[in-house]
Amino acid sequence: MIYPWLSNVEQQLAASFNAGRFHHGQLFNGQQGVGKRALVEQLANALLCLSATNLVPCGHCKSCHLNQAVTHPDKYVVQTDGQSIGVDDIRSVSDFMHQSAAQNANKVVVINDCHKMTTAAANALLKTLEEPSPQRFLLLTTSATTQLPATILSRCAFTQVKVNDDNVAMNWIAQLHVPAYPWLKMFTQQPLLVARWQQDEQLEVIDQLYKFATELKQGHNFSVLVDIISKDIERVRVFCLFLSEQLKQQLIAGMDFDSYQSAQNALAEFVQNSTQILGLNLPLAVSRLAYRLRKSYK
Ligand SMILES: [Zn+2]
Repeated sequence: MIYPWLSNVEQQLAASFNAGRFHHGQLFNGQQGVGKRALVEQLANALLCLSATNLVPCGHCKSCHLNQAVTHPDKYVVQTDGQSIGVDDIRSVSDFMHQSAAQNANKVVVINDCHKMTTAAANALLKTLEEPSPQRFLLLTTSATTQLPATILSRCAFTQVKVNDDNVAMNWIAQLHVPAYPWLKMFTQQPLLVARWQQDEQLEVIDQLYKFATELKQGHNFSVLVDIISKDIERVRVFCLFLSEQLKQQLIAGMDFDSYQSAQNALAEFVQNSTQILGLNLPLAVSRLAYRLRKSYK
């Protein structure tokens, strides 16, 4: 078991594999921090392992040792830190698939964040998906299926990776000894994100963002806030998540729907501008956001 909330998914995949129904193209969708990569890593290693049981690698065979050293010749991982996965990346995938296998005859390709494929790349991948060779497996992860062409979606077995029971995630987070921040429960679908913040000593900063979101409607001086969010685009998203959550609470407490809608639009615009406009005047964007939210709160 990788993470306690993934055990159901692991069991389902193992059952389909043991029954000979494991599809050659597998797509895993889930939020950032839910454990898709760890899951796919385990699957890839199990498919390559010489004595795996229930799709879990043995950890001791030659294949497993190669995987531990990240030098397995039959595994190919496409990963992008940039904006897109191009057609050349996918051509390397099909070249790799056509080579013969070095170890137990299976070959596995992992494409993380596959929604970042360009149209040309997606079309190139389609060919590999449509004409599968035996013992070739394609494991795709995404957090944005809506950005994927329907042709890719329809040719893959689809697995939703999520936390089914919030308590399982909260218990797991609790054993990390994270302070009991009021916002932790908003991340029960992303327990690994919380773990990463702890590891990177970011929890205090996230908590500060939460406080800024709570006080935005009274605040006038946003320089500290701007300073924090300008350092990392992820912080903009987290800050806006906090604001959005507050708006939902306001709606429940009786805010009229038009004001709610216009405030949410202001938020969406802010996220879009912050993530897409290079050299955006962030202090101005933040005060404009605060102004528009204040008008909605009335
Ligand atoms: Zn093994």
